[in-house]
Amino acid sequence: MSTLLELKDVRAYYGAVECLHGVDLTVGDGEVVVVLGANGAGKTTLLRSICQLVRTEGSITLRGEEIGGRGTYDVVRGGVSMVPQGRGTLVDLSVDDNLRAGGFIRRDKEVGADVRYWYEVFPRLARRRSTSAGSLSGGEQQMLAIARALMSRPSLLLLDEPSLGLAPIVVRQLFDVLARVCAEREVAMVVVEQNAALALGMAQRGYVLEAGTVAVTGPAERLRDDESVRRAYLGY
Ligand code: ATP
Repeated sequence: MSTLLELKDVRAYYGAVECLHGVDLTVGDGEVVVVLGANGAGKTTLLRSICQLVRTEGSITLRGEEIGGRGTYDVVRGGVSMVPQGRGTLVDLSVDDNLRAGGFIRRDKEVGADVRYWYEVFPRLARRRSTSAGSLSGGEQQMLAIARALMSRPSLLLLDEPSLGLAPIVVRQLFDVLARVCAEREVAMVVVEQNAALALGMAQRGYVLEAGTVAVTGPAERLRDDESVRRAYLGY
């Protein structure tokens, strides 16, 4: 598996305050990586760093090319897409327009076919295609947010707490679809998730962040067996 994303000694800042203190992380092509950590550990900041939504120092490369210091638009064009915490749908726009907006960087003629593809994956969205995104249920909004993010045909999808506020059955279905679609399309994922058991079940590798640094990293299986991870994140 070749390296898609590599962070070396990444520091992130809100104003003068440093919130990531030298993070190293890699993601291979098509790989699923989970990021665990307590509240305030820096998980969201890590995703924002990759998208260049916060000021960073250190090196962030995508297929070997430095993206640190570039604009977010360039990072998206480079193949990165993010589903932020709280969905990030355009609430006043219809479901259909949200999906088309997700494909805004594309120049190919397949956008319409991709919209139809997502209606097949999520028939509930198809039934509500003319409804404004703001009036969808939480689960439907998350489906839309994921589909919209994948409309740009990224090679890397960043997900911030996709299960937040959703019923367990909806979460299960959503993760099943995510795993299937990303495997089919060879999309790598970095998933920040409180539901550690579910996320470790889907991921190949994981990172545990503590106060802005990487405390533990390794294959998902090993993290599942790690006593500190079990106690803190798996609850047994
Ligand atoms: P949670 O699980 O609660 O979402 P997290 O691990 O995602 O937490 P971050 O949101 O990345 O953590 O926050 C990391 C640190 O950065 C925290 O100390 C937080 O207070 C700080 N921080 C986050 N956003 C900002 C901001 N916009 N301005 C200043 N400090 C911020």
